[in-house]
Amino acid sequence: MDYQQGELFSNELAPWEIDAAAETPCASVAFPEAPFGPYDYRIPDELGGLIKPAMRVVVPLGKGNREIVGYTIAIHISKHPKELIKPILRAIDAEPLCNSNLLQLIQWMSRYYLVPLGQVFEAVIPAGVRAGAGTRNQTLLKPSLKASDDALVKSLPVKQRQTLQQLILADEPLSQEQLRHLAQCSDGVIKKLCELQFVESYTERVMTFGKDVAAEVYERVAPPALSSDQRIALQTIYAAIDSGEHETILLHGVTGSGKTEVYMQSIEQVISFGKQAIVLVPEISLTPQTRSRFQNRFASVAVLHSKMSGPERHYQWKRIAEGGVQVIIGPRSAIFAPAPYLGLIILDEEHENSFKQETIPRYHARDVAIHRASLERIPLVLGSATPSLETFHRATIGQYKKVALPRRILNRPLPEVTTIDLRSNRIDVDRGSLSRPLIQAIEKTLAENGQTILLLNRRGFATSIQCPACGHVVTCPVCDLALTHHREGSKALCHFCDYTIAVPQACQKCGFEAIRFAGLGTQKLEMEVQQRFPDATIARMDSDTMKKPGSHERVQADFRAGRIQILMGTQMIAKGLDFPNVLLVGVINADTALHFPDFRASEKTFQLVTQVAGRTGRGERGGVVLVQTYSPDHPAIVASCKHDYRSFSEQELVQREQFGYPPYSSLARIIMRGPVQQDAEEFAEGIVKKIQLEIARTSAPVRVLGPAPPPIAKLRGHYRFHAMLISKDPAALNAILSRVQQSTKVTGDNLYLIDIDPIDML
Ligand code: ADP
Ligand code: ZN
Repeated sequence: MDYQQGELFSNELAPWEIDAAAETPCASVAFPEAPFGPYDYRIPDELGGLIKPAMRVVVPLGKGNREIVGYTIAIHISKHPKELIKPILRAIDAEPLCNSNLLQLIQWMSRYYLVPLGQVFEAVIPAGVRAGAGTRNQTLLKPSLKASDDALVKSLPVKQRQTLQQLILADEPLSQEQLRHLAQCSDGVIKKLCELQFVESYTERVMTFGKDVAAEVYERVAPPALSSDQRIALQTIYAAIDSGEHETILLHGVTGSGKTEVYMQSIEQVISFGKQAIVLVPEISLTPQTRSRFQNRFASVAVLHSKMSGPERHYQWKRIAEGGVQVIIGPRSAIFAPAPYLGLIILDEEHENSFKQETIPRYHARDVAIHRASLERIPLVLGSATPSLETFHRATIGQYKKVALPRRILNRPLPEVTTIDLRSNRIDVDRGSLSRPLIQAIEKTLAENGQTILLLNRRGFATSIQCPACGHVVTCPVCDLALTHHREGSKALCHFCDYTIAVPQACQKCGFEAIRFAGLGTQKLEMEVQQRFPDATIARMDSDTMKKPGSHERVQADFRAGRIQILMGTQMIAKGLDFPNVLLVGVINADTALHFPDFRASEKTFQLVTQVAGRTGRGERGGVVLVQTYSPDHPAIVASCKHDYRSFSEQELVQREQFGYPPYSSLARIIMRGPVQQDAEEFAEGIVKKIQLEIARTSAPVRVLGPAPPPIAKLRGHYRFHAMLISKDPAALNAILSRVQQSTKVTGDNLYLIDIDPIDML
């Protein structure tokens, strides 16, 4: 048992209550609600052999012995006499909910993310599985031991004897209805056989969902001949598969370089050994296009997604657990797929932030995948055109293997990217957001019957302060982050460390006197484009217009069929689309993400511009990209326009090291909130104080910033504060937070949460 908080296992018994002679079989049981446990419970004789780890059991809790459902973590022998340990009342599951590797993964998540085991269980085992969705209880009949005595059977009246013989011949348990049908008898005959104890009845849960799920038939597509780059990448992955050891491989391939083909041929290899593969993709790129690529190649694919019904999810979970699925494709939670013969994990678009779950447990699927792959001793392939700097750095220092696909398939060129300097192509704010060169490019594309994608990455609320004349952005001297404009008090403040200044009246760099606050009209763009191009068919894709299920697929299908000429949207449109007729990509304002108060702002900008640029030039007609910006000289913009990952990462990593950010450190964020501003602030200061004391007490190499109000300083009536812990030693960070967590009793309306390896800084 390697749960870190060993004292929790004492189950409130004192040392003198230990009896050396006692041997009481116990299960440690964790709860999804407070008190989280785990606590020891005795396995009563009648449940002996039936209780295994990773099952749900009902146990009595507290003085009132309230019945509560918990998860068994481990079975062990206690030295406490049995009278002192409360018994398990009953088991809910007949079989463990997951195998031992998954159970170990759950335990690791609980320790690493500082989340109670019971809550991790609830995240890993889907609700539909726990509820047994799509199943019902069925009563089945089987012959008893007495029925094997021929003499006794022969003595039965003829109808009863024939009925019993039908059941024996069936060689499997039958429902009453099936037996009645088979033996052409009445219910009375069966009832009599049960009374005479020739037939035993018992109940079992059987799946009702899925019986009618017809096996869909897909056209099998043979793999193409590989490019030489693809062949080399594949050899590296094959070698890792053959080694029987865990290894993480970064597949760094430019957009359209054929990464998916490499994934599929690696999967073919593990399937040929009778094993299974998990493919993790960002939810957004789980398009019909992606699905069918896999379904056309493999006989049995399970596609998981967030909109699945409970019964459907339960059905797929069972199929996977029974080993009946070769390939499992899904978003981050698919990393928990109960594949018993896992041979390979692939994580596509590994830089995507949607792999981070922003509710409890706040895990990152990439880190969970690394851990699972190492438990299973199998390779993990991380694929991306723009790897996260964390992953790239690890690959550079040799922690991961690295393979590259530096060219597009068929040597198609990457599209040419041109920046449009908004300082010289000044746009009249009242007239809109399209510069003249971009308008002309759209006109030309329409005339050539091509399609246009316009990216508008709006994150309107956090407003950076930027000089329209020279592009200078006001930043924090401590954190190197853009200061955020606050209307009240006309302040500019750092959302990381609380550094505050009065809003400058003129640019600090060039003295220009009309400094402006970035931030763009949102739906305005759609109206503007419609007005300028009244004959064009346009569509907008963002979280507001894409709320209805299926709307995403519909717009994509329309775009593919050419029914949409101009597609605009947020980062949603930057990913994964592979449409040869896209001749123009326009980025409305590359700076919106750039000056965001987040140390990953440059990285996110680089990724976004590179990814959206990759949406064009996929066909024979090529394509161009126009990027509007006030910062054409910013390294992230310059590098993304040249598709130059190397120089971007080199420069950015220097910055990260200088300011002590990941990948050169680990980060944890604590968010504290409450309905009354002053109380919430005091609460936040109290927690930070406690952290500082703990750091001082243990001399831990951990730095604390804050508390400060985050960019979203008020949410749903709650005032928010956050603090950042930074350390080169993730274990030290974990230890500090674990201590603080144990000693912080939350009372009243103020709450806090811990986010390990945070992505969201809002
Ligand atoms: P990526 O995932 O790197 O963006 P894809 O795997 O989507 O790239 O490949 C881009 C296109 O090239 C797809 O249409 C794919 O079918 C095609 N393709 C991939 N590999 C080959 C190959 N070896 N020969 C011909 N076409 C290929
Ligand atoms: Zn700061």
